[in-house]
Amino acid sequence: MSGSPGMAMLVPDFPFPYAEHLAAPAGLGELPPHAQGTEVAVIGAGMAGLVTAYELMRLGLRPVLHEAGEIGGRLRTATFPQVDRSTGAVADLGGMRFPASGRAFGHYLDLLDVATAPFPNPLAPQTPSTVIELGGRAVYAERPEDLPPVFAEVSHHWATALAEGADLPALRVAVAARATRQIKQIWNRLVPRLDEESFYGFVARSPAFGDFSHRELFGQVGFGTGGWDTDFPNSMLEILRVVATDADDQHVRILGGAQQVPLALWRHTPETLTGHPVGTSLESLHDGAPRPAVRALRRLDDGRLGVLDRWGTERAYPAVVSTVQSWLLSAGIDTDESLFSHDLWMALERSHYMQSSKTFVLVDRPFWRDRDPVTGRHVMSTTLTDRLTRGTYLLDGGRGLDDPAAAHTPAVVCLSYTWNDDALKWLALPTDERVRLMLHSMSKIYPDLDLAAHIRGEPVTISWENEPHFMGAFRGNLPGHYRYQRRLFTHFVQDAFPAEHRGVFLAGDDISFTPGWAEGAVQTAINAVWGVVRHLGGTCAPTNPGPGDRFGELAPIRLP
Ligand SMILES: Cc1cc2nc3c(=O)[nH]c(=O)nc-3n(C[C@H](O)[C@H](O)[C@H](O)COP(=O)(O)OP(=O)(O)OC[C@H]3O[C@@H](n4cnc5c(N)ncnc54)[C@H](O)[C@@H]3O)c2cc1C
Repeated sequence: MSGSPGMAMLVPDFPFPYAEHLAAPAGLGELPPHAQGTEVAVIGAGMAGLVTAYELMRLGLRPVLHEAGEIGGRLRTATFPQVDRSTGAVADLGGMRFPASGRAFGHYLDLLDVATAPFPNPLAPQTPSTVIELGGRAVYAERPEDLPPVFAEVSHHWATALAEGADLPALRVAVAARATRQIKQIWNRLVPRLDEESFYGFVARSPAFGDFSHRELFGQVGFGTGGWDTDFPNSMLEILRVVATDADDQHVRILGGAQQVPLALWRHTPETLTGHPVGTSLESLHDGAPRPAVRALRRLDDGRLGVLDRWGTERAYPAVVSTVQSWLLSAGIDTDESLFSHDLWMALERSHYMQSSKTFVLVDRPFWRDRDPVTGRHVMSTTLTDRLTRGTYLLDGGRGLDDPAAAHTPAVVCLSYTWNDDALKWLALPTDERVRLMLHSMSKIYPDLDLAAHIRGEPVTISWENEPHFMGAFRGNLPGHYRYQRRLFTHFVQDAFPAEHRGVFLAGDDISFTPGWAEGAVQTAINAVWGVVRHLGGTCAPTNPGPGDRFGELAPIRLP
């Protein structure tokens, strides 16, 4: 499925134009004079926490960020001690490829002037070559047309299944045209029908996919980034949101690593801001470092919210925004049960996480551009396989694929990127053992290549389910989870809540309808900003209504 101009991650559940709202000259809102300078706690300095804090600062509030680990959260980038970060040879341990349609995230890329380059996904136009290996048989392609005809057949079956079973072409046209009424009409018919359908169930029940071998090949190659069969148990709605909004297409990577984005936001001094001197940044407001991890969250006798940090200091706030993964509100932070309704607690607890592991090695140069003198093929390619490694990505150093200097600069191989069951297979293994097994898989696919001879320094590996301060890679809703996600996403509109349930706002990847994409973290942060402004008596300009102002018109459909 190719990207369409004008496509946006206008999430069909709530097609609010976040990028336009962010860019509007009227700004995100205005606070009454007495609220100016009010402190608001923001728990977590990942993308959602930083966007929330940055925009609250611009509005004249005083955000107080708490972070348990590194600024950037799941946009963490590892460096290799053997080479300087400026070589571009880095490893994005979490988010690494960002779709052109993620326009709210893109707003911050533009604002921060972050350099990007196309991401070398399988069969993407900028990718030198791709190898797909299934059942011990490998095929090599420099362009999609090089693949055997069965791949085009499977791609056609997928398009047919989506058209027949989910009205996808009409939905995509409506999304590209920002036609919110049509988007909602189509989506509101699909939600009750497909909430309880798994991705695999949808594929297997589609008449277009009558042949098992086609389903198997589809699981291996999928669409966009490829290798989607580990998502087969998830709700079909999760997949539809991705394909309806081009989230899996036209990806860029951040040169120097994805963590540059949250770090730049932390340091950025906005040109326009209220109530703070010009030159103020989140970094300067925090004297250079966020406050420590949060240990407990409770309602104080005066009605404010008490945030207790790891070392025992408690501070009181009228509003708190939590951006941590939702299980952490029970497993990591001692959260007063009375702060949320039982329905919301149930939704928080029912979160289903995708596991994920990645392993990277530094190599001397992008040797994959060499061609075998006999076959004329690249000696190594972006690889999708049913072996343990699943996805292997080749990441040039320097300024990416178009930089001639990159040919002589150290580069990085992501030997393996896996999800779910495939990630759990690596969990117990130490780094060296992981790399040994991965090199073994590669030697079967590329018998003439001495990949190990190119490796320099120490490998880098991560299993997100094993990381302190995280509960897995990202949310991935199972069939029947729509109602829970709706409760979480809509929690920022608190007018009808009893007083004891007001004042804590949720944002971040878990809360969004598009988990696993930084765009969702940004969009839900903007929801939380709207919620805080309203909670403190502020409003949005009539020319730039916020997500809560348009809630009645756009709200996600409620299932019985
Ligand atoms: C393996 C992987 C691959 C991904 N790939 C992509 C991709 O290619 N493209 C894309 O767009 N997105 C991708 N994502 C998703 C993207 O990384 C997330 O959507 C985004 O980074 C989430 O930001 P967040 O602020 O919601 O959460 P987080 O980044 O998790 O931020 C929450 C923060 O809270 C902190 N915290 C936890 N407990 C406490 C506490 N008690 N007190 C204070 N702080 C606390 C954590 O340390 C963390 O920094 C990927 C994620 C992973 C893990």
